[in-house]
Amino acid sequence: MKDDRNPCQSGPLRVAVLGAGEVGKSALTVRYLTKRFIGEYRSDTDMLYKCVLQVDGTPQPVEIMDTSASCDESSDAHLQWAEAFVVVYSVTDKESYRWAAGTVEELTNRRSSACVLMLGNKSDLGHLREVEEVEARSLALTHAARFSEVSTAESCTPVAEVLDNFLKEVKSQRNGSSNQNGGSPKLRKISVTKMLGSLIGRSSPPPTPMTHLIILDKEERSKLQPAMRRLCRPCLRPAHSLPCSPHTAV
Ligand code: GDP
Ligand code: MG
Repeated sequence: MKDDRNPCQSGPLRVAVLGAGEVGKSALTVRYLTKRFIGEYRSDTDMLYKCVLQVDGTPQPVEIMDTSASCDESSDAHLQWAEAFVVVYSVTDKESYRWAAGTVEELTNRRSSACVLMLGNKSDLGHLREVEEVEARSLALTHAARFSEVSTAESCTPVAEVLDNFLKEVKSQRNGSSNQNGGSPKLRKISVTKMLGSLIGRSSPPPTPMTHLIILDKEERSKLQPAMRRLCRPCLRPAHSLPCSPHTAV
């Protein structure tokens, strides 16, 4: 059934990063927010990043949900929660492309006004390529989705450019209501700096832009739906909105 509500006409831009497992969703998200590439991530849970980014030259609160492959049961909630979607596949994995294609189609049917970016990752692995760029680009075009190929591992700049431009489009597509947003589920918060420190085994990594990370476990993910309903009520301040310094992409 088509459900084209957009719960977020004001407040943070909410972006869900969707895709099959191991395509690089976490690497991409962290690359964009911190400019770093980290090889391995926990993959058993959704990660919600809250930050303020420079979008079209002005600071804009943004929430990015890095979804986990084991979250099929909450995909409906992701679809409802976000107003924009980055659908990632790996150019080395045809199955992940099929997954992405199905998701883009589903988004066309159920969230037809949502901004969608289809992203082919791991373009550095040309010798293992299973998905041709022209095929994916044409599919994205059919569904009025943006399209790009990137290598998250290789370089930060193209990833930042693609996502900066995408956020710019998402922002410009908003229709200007000035409602305040309410909060997401009350969850554990750790700073990305701390998380990266523990991921890469350093106690004090170099400074990164201040971003807050919220780890959603299974139970917390199931709260997304009611949380989203709360978000729709005007004039509710986020329960735990925190100041973040603007992120400037290189
Ligand atoms: P997720 O399950 O979709 O979140 O995928 P991850 O971000 O955990 O990445 C899965 C694997 O792909 C990890 O080993 C990453 O290091 C690797 N990876 C991510 N992006 C790239 C890329 O652009 N090129 C290459 N060669 N490997 C990548
Ligand atoms: Mg992941």
